[in-house]
Amino acid sequence: MTPEEALEQAALAGIHRLSVDTPFRVGPVNCYLVEGDPLTLVDTGPNSGTTLDALQSQLSAHGHAIDDIELIAITHPHLDHLGLTKIIVEHSGAEVAALAPLAEKLKDFPADADEEDAFAVEIMRRNGIPAEVAEALQLVSSSFRGWGSAVDVTRELADGDSIRLGDREFEVQHRPGHSTTDTLFWDADGEILIVGDHLIAHISSNPLISRPLDGSEGRTRSLIEYVESMKRTRELPAKIVLPGHGEPITDHVELIDARLASIQRREEKIYRLIKEQARTGYELAQAIWGNVAVTQAFLTLSEVIGNADVLVEEGRVREADDGTVIRYEAT
Ligand SMILES: [Zn+2]
Repeated sequence: MTPEEALEQAALAGIHRLSVDTPFRVGPVNCYLVEGDPLTLVDTGPNSGTTLDALQSQLSAHGHAIDDIELIAITHPHLDHLGLTKIIVEHSGAEVAALAPLAEKLKDFPADADEEDAFAVEIMRRNGIPAEVAEALQLVSSSFRGWGSAVDVTRELADGDSIRLGDREFEVQHRPGHSTTDTLFWDADGEILIVGDHLIAHISSNPLISRPLDGSEGRTRSLIEYVESMKRTRELPAKIVLPGHGEPITDHVELIDARLASIQRREEKIYRLIKEQARTGYELAQAIWGNVAVTQAFLTLSEVIGNADVLVEEGRVREADDGTVIRYEAT
């Protein structure tokens, strides 16, 4: 099945891809219209008038309008996926469904984003990223804040719940990795899986380091969680996987195997670098990618820390903390 055929099949099931532009490096984001009762939008795109216009015109091509939306389901709390939620709710009175732990975070969006940024700065400092890079990144992040918005979640979801989107029954699947609250919607009848950024065909998703979902101290082991999540997704007999960016995925097993293999390859590369000499996360990222743009610094750091976590878990590497920075060294 080609990606075009996958979109056609999904459309026959009443699921339509709506693609809207974003100001972010990732490019356009996919929202999905699920027709029926309740008329549902999965993700909304960033908070901007242009997005609203784009959604409105794509909805009208299917005979619907923003005001008709009855339910918004959220895959994960990144600005490009949910920024417009509040405005759509103001127009339509739609319910908002999201994983329960997201409710509190989204209600107080600016404060939560500030906390996440402060957390990221601390992670960067502890992993050897120069202060000026961390500060520049924090500025970039707060300048993006306007593309998001606070959201009142009216329907809290848990892993394993059933939820009706349009005329179809979906199972809610919590699959952390890219974010701590990545939420997949699985239509077992249609063998269609809506995944947000859990899987993307043309780029690998960053397993972003974050604060633990349960509010505990420390940070997530995002790559370890992500690998676990991908292995669970691999088991699903999905025919069509609808991602948050780019084209549908029609062989998710092959894609997941490729992603797992490349994670493994990078892990070995990182192990060789650490064996050569003890290095900070920043030094590892630089050894692999060179000097990256400021906006990419936290993403690449998340990648290498994720790989190092696996090496620590395997007992091949340990963290040496000199009180200022953490260095990884071979055991
Ligand atoms: Zn995204």
